[in-house]
Amino acid sequence: MEILANYPLKKLNSFGMDVSAHRFARFSSADELQALLRHRREQGEAALPLLVLGGGSNLLFRENFSGWVLKNEIGGVEELHEDADFVYVRAGAGENWHGFVQYCIGRGWGGLENLSLIPGNVGASPMQNIGAYGVEIKDLFWDLRALHIESGRVETFTVGDCHFGYRESVFKTKLRNQYVILDVTYCLRKKPVLHTSYGAIHQELEAAGIGQPTIRDVADAVIRIRQSKLPDPAVIGNAGSFFKNPTVPLAQFNSLQQQHPGIVGYPLPGDKVKLAAGWLIEAAGWKGYRKGDAGVHPRQALVLVNYGHATGADIFDLSEQIVQSIRSAFNVELEREVNII
Ligand SMILES: Cc1cc2nc3c(=O)[nH]c(=O)nc-3n(C[C@H](O)[C@H](O)[C@H](O)COP(=O)(O)OP(=O)(O)OC[C@H]3O[C@@H](n4cnc5c(N)ncnc54)[C@H](O)[C@@H]3O)c2cc1C
Repeated sequence: MEILANYPLKKLNSFGMDVSAHRFARFSSADELQALLRHRREQGEAALPLLVLGGGSNLLFRENFSGWVLKNEIGGVEELHEDADFVYVRAGAGENWHGFVQYCIGRGWGGLENLSLIPGNVGASPMQNIGAYGVEIKDLFWDLRALHIESGRVETFTVGDCHFGYRESVFKTKLRNQYVILDVTYCLRKKPVLHTSYGAIHQELEAAGIGQPTIRDVADAVIRIRQSKLPDPAVIGNAGSFFKNPTVPLAQFNSLQQQHPGIVGYPLPGDKVKLAAGWLIEAAGWKGYRKGDAGVHPRQALVLVNYGHATGADIFDLSEQIVQSIRSAFNVELEREVNII
């Protein structure tokens, strides 16, 4: 058990924020995690903030972290059992998400292909019910095991326990900062059902001359689309979509549409409409904006970027200006998707 002091986190967060952690340690099993938590208590530091870190691709450090950062490196992928239609696969929280998706595709297990190339680790996938191209993990989720930080108990959460919503779960709301996810089990299809109608997947497959796609073809199409649209954090610091797509009542959407005929919205049940936050931000003139090293990506208005030496405060201030500008231009409230630390 190695516990490091004032540990640099720049390489461990996709925004590339140059901050440090008061204490930092890695764990690769529930027992190691328990030992670290015990040690933290014995040192009289149990009251300090605790951050469980995965791939660091969905958070923004605004300043040095004054507590303990514990990096989850629990590995392993295990086929638990199968029936006629499904295979149940458990992955350690520290497994790289895209690596896990590729592993499943390699075995012909369908369901996760639309979620290819999402950065980060398996353990964070239920945190905000990651989603892309018409699929969310809740559609394939079976259960997860998580350690309750205060009691040390390991508990199992089924899909009903997790309260998944759009970029939401109980771990971001009611149970925030209370559990460490140890592993996640997905229920994957032996006879895949493809989702190719969302976004540009269909056109991408057509352009490649693929009429009868496999899950591998769909994954490859998603990878090509994502690579062409989204900035690579290895090249330019970012955490993907900074804001969620806001939901408004249908009546408000209709009146917005009269003033802005090009506005993009997707109907939801219950007379609601989900607006494309990227459209709002672009329409308000932010796309390509840059002040110092903090900016809005020139090709994707939903992505805030660090061109090199922006601080977390610079990025947060920019996000605040955008929130206010969208409020005054459209009377719509933007909510941050990225976890602000
Ligand atoms: C270029 C880019 C594109 C992206 N595209 C998408 C997309 O299409 N769809 C999407 O949904 N997301 C997307 N994201 C966001 C991000 O990839 C996901 O949210 C991902 O699941 C974060 O995983 P992580 O391991 O990096 O989490 P981290 O950033 O390390 O952590 C995120 C939060 O989860 C908590 N956490 C992490 N692991 C655990 C654990 N084991 N137990 C308890 N808490 C934990 C952390 O404390 C933190 O609060 C994108 C990000 C980038 C940079």
